[in-house]
Amino acid sequence: MGNDRYNVVIVGAGPAGSTAALLLAQNNLSVALIERGKKPGSKNMFGGSIYRKPTAKIIPGFWKEAPLERTIITDELWLMDRTSAVKAGFTGLKFNEEPYNKFSAIRSKFDPWFANQAVKAGAKLMTETLAVDLVYEKIGLLKKKVDGVKLDNGEVIYADVVLLAEGASANLTQKAGLRGSIEASSLTLYVKEELALPAKKIESRFNLEPGEGSNIGMIGYPTASVVGKGGLWTNQDSISIIVGGYLNQINSKGVSPYQLLTRFKEHPLIKRLISDAKPIAYKSHIIPKGGYESIPTLYDDGILVAGDAAMMVSGRRGTDIAMLSGLYAAETIAQARAAQDYTAKVLKGYKKRIMDSFFMKSIKKSKNSKQYYKEHPDADFLLTKAANDAAYRFFTVGIEASETKMKKIKDEIFGMQPTKKTLTDLYYGIQDWGIF
Ligand SMILES: Cc1cc2nc3c(=O)[nH]c(=O)nc-3n(C[C@H](O)[C@H](O)[C@H](O)COP(=O)(O)OP(=O)(O)OC[C@H]3O[C@@H](n4cnc5c(N)ncnc54)[C@H](O)[C@@H]3O)c2cc1C
Repeated sequence: MGNDRYNVVIVGAGPAGSTAALLLAQNNLSVALIERGKKPGSKNMFGGSIYRKPTAKIIPGFWKEAPLERTIITDELWLMDRTSAVKAGFTGLKFNEEPYNKFSAIRSKFDPWFANQAVKAGAKLMTETLAVDLVYEKIGLLKKKVDGVKLDNGEVIYADVVLLAEGASANLTQKAGLRGSIEASSLTLYVKEELALPAKKIESRFNLEPGEGSNIGMIGYPTASVVGKGGLWTNQDSISIIVGGYLNQINSKGVSPYQLLTRFKEHPLIKRLISDAKPIAYKSHIIPKGGYESIPTLYDDGILVAGDAAMMVSGRRGTDIAMLSGLYAAETIAQARAAQDYTAKVLKGYKKRIMDSFFMKSIKKSKNSKQYYKEHPDADFLLTKAANDAAYRFFTVGIEASETKMKKIKDEIFGMQPTKKTLTDLYYGIQDWGIF
């Protein structure tokens, strides 16, 4: 490989890194895209949905050739108790027509395809290559600028600018002094299992036609009182399930991620959806949920940070935000190249683009809900229990006047905790569940 020089070195071939690599290579910059995995995606996992509109900003019409699983037409939220679930949802058959809304996908298939688009545009992809440090050049008496990355084999790849798109671990972002260490209360830990099931069975179980998909988000019982979520996605001939929550709570409650997964799979309503399905893959992964206060310094002389490494996650959305941050990074780097100035003076334009984005407004807003859940970690469980108790009473056929029944339901719900708390729990829940 040798100690080569490129216009840009990108660390991480996830959605953020591959986006920037593709756009910069299309703009005739020389790009090295470094990935520690055997292939892009081999270290990555998500639920997961790929969102059509933002992704099409990077690759118009991507769904015609990308390895996607199913077109999601049904979205549901289940508030789960031990033997029941209150369900809210929507099925839109229009979502199964172009231009579509979102797709289920598996990262070990999607990421290599995406990185390959960058390679086809001229980027050099280096897999099984770990970047371990940054190298600097002096640009004044006291100032230095990032001038490349050092690899684990001791080689250095030099570049005018380095883009860190290294995901949640963000080791180099910390080494660069752009962010401090992250508390466990700012991270969520999820486990995922992929279970093989023939397409026909999936379609009959979830009321789908071939190619159509379904996504269920779940609150309450599955997370064993840890603030978190469960989720289920239908793929072409497999089902993806995830469950997890805040890392500090998983630690303090002494539940292992594997125990959460077992509890989730043994729930009687989940059990019947996944019966006969054969586990084919198991992974766990962190989601950076630090929110607005944890966003690192986004740029410095010769360096930018994008995607999860920059804590850019909002609700269920992460891949698309990573891609858009990769897009903004590529735009900024192209400007720096035009000005032949890769210092913070020009690269600060990246921060402005990020701060003006729609997703940063959502990330800013979610700050209140994060604080609320810190103060009221019981919120989801109380709501879920109340909703299920009320539904049992409502749907039980009795021998009483409907007015009497409704009064009992009302008394039960509002007797559980102060009405204001129930309404506030609901207000923050709707924002945090990431369903809209
Ligand atoms: C359980 C779960 C469910 C999710 N569901 C969804 C969903 O449904 N939809 C959605 O949009 N988002 C979802 N997300 C979030 C989404 O996966 C992330 O936000 C997104 O992957 C971030 O992209 P990225 O490019 O910043 O980082 P990543 O995808 O993490 O990519 C970083 C890459 O950098 C590589 N790397 C790291 N360090 C180095 C190094 N030093 N040298 C070389 N390579 C390195 C890694 O191997 C990796 O390939 C989910 C996440 C989880 C954990």
